[in-house]
Amino acid sequence: MSTLGSVVSAGFDVERLREDFPVLKQQIHGKPLVYLDNAATAQKPLPVLEAIRRFYEVECANIHRGVHELSQRSTAAYEETRAAARRFLNARSKNELIFVRGTTEGINLVASTWGRKNIKAGDEIIISALEHHSNIVPWQMLVEEKEARLRVIPMNDRGELLLEEYEKSLNPRTRLVAFAHVSNALGTINPARQMIEMAHRAGALTLIDGAQAAPHMPIDVQALDADFYTFSGHKVFGPTGVGILYGKAKLLEAMPPYQGGGDMIRTVSFEKTTYNDVPYKFEAGTPNISSGIGLGAALDYVTHIGLDKIAAYEHELLSYATETLTEIPGLRLIGTAREKASVLSFVMEGIHPHDIGTVLDRQGIAVRTGHHCAQPIMDWFHIPATTRASLAFYNTAGEIDALVAGLYKVKEVFGE
Ligand SMILES: *Cc1c(COP(=O)(O)O)cnc(C)c1O
Repeated sequence: MSTLGSVVSAGFDVERLREDFPVLKQQIHGKPLVYLDNAATAQKPLPVLEAIRRFYEVECANIHRGVHELSQRSTAAYEETRAAARRFLNARSKNELIFVRGTTEGINLVASTWGRKNIKAGDEIIISALEHHSNIVPWQMLVEEKEARLRVIPMNDRGELLLEEYEKSLNPRTRLVAFAHVSNALGTINPARQMIEMAHRAGALTLIDGAQAAPHMPIDVQALDADFYTFSGHKVFGPTGVGILYGKAKLLEAMPPYQGGGDMIRTVSFEKTTYNDVPYKFEAGTPNISSGIGLGAALDYVTHIGLDKIAAYEHELLSYATETLTEIPGLRLIGTAREKASVLSFVMEGIHPHDIGTVLDRQGIAVRTGHHCAQPIMDWFHIPATTRASLAFYNTAGEIDALVAGLYKVKEVFGE
């Protein structure tokens, strides 16, 4: 507890930050809400809610089309998010950022444009044993279509990738290495910079699934030298239905368009259509404008707090939670990587995760139970499911204590 105190005194005032999240101030089943399902989606602060409201109240118009005032305003607000995303990821240019629906669409966009064009029979794509289904299935679909091959970097009992095995799997046929910066199911932080360097040495490109990194740590795509990097707005305290795909400019320029329709074209005739410039070439149709604007507010919000401060505070909170949870008899943490972020996946002897989740819910505590869209990870640990408590910067040591008390209650109800 004293370590948490020192983080607070270093300028991280969690109680004040919680004031920005109206949703947290409620009772669930008569108990204060303890929201520990942040890896599934994070709550939204007032500036995000206000940005969405302002759009519908005073800016609402379609973007990139109108000469009239409202269209100018909505276009400016929407494009401001692209600028915020550039700052957030430290990309070189605003044109390297593409609006997508979320991480899932970011990955699918690369698979179906860059992938369709560049992957040939016999080529290889490497993913890891830690991946979310959305960084597995698009590549499986692609290799099936192209008669290419998918290889998987294995992991150890802690949930850490085996880099020597990764090194062995790289070869002249490797075209792409796609992996999560942070695992949603285990919390493992992968050594992204090193893994990217290894891929580049083998002549392969890289795609980083940043869905779980964006809310928890500073990201610098130039320092990483990532070729593609994608994240979801809703996990970084923004709205659902919007996310960002970063790609190096020269790669994006050489890629064919994604979907066809309005906004992605320059000229259309029945004989020939020419395409718009990057990034608009990849953005067909009217996008989720209000969510896009809300995302900009979310990125500015976390940047203002400081992702380094968020990372330091959450690190303390995770250590405290790890310590107190492992004291519970019969509880086993799944995922104990030395480099880890904000996720506590666990099983309890003789008690089904679904029952744990249900009893916790009666205490006002929201956790996730299941395979967390990562069935291969569950198979590897020979378990069908885990209970997962996932933290955000607005969680407190007191909430960890509530979780622990809730788990003793679970033992009381289901214990022998
Ligand atoms: C949530 C998540 C995804 C999928 O994100 P969507 O917002 O559902 O598209 C992909 N990868 C990881 C690691 C995730 O946590």
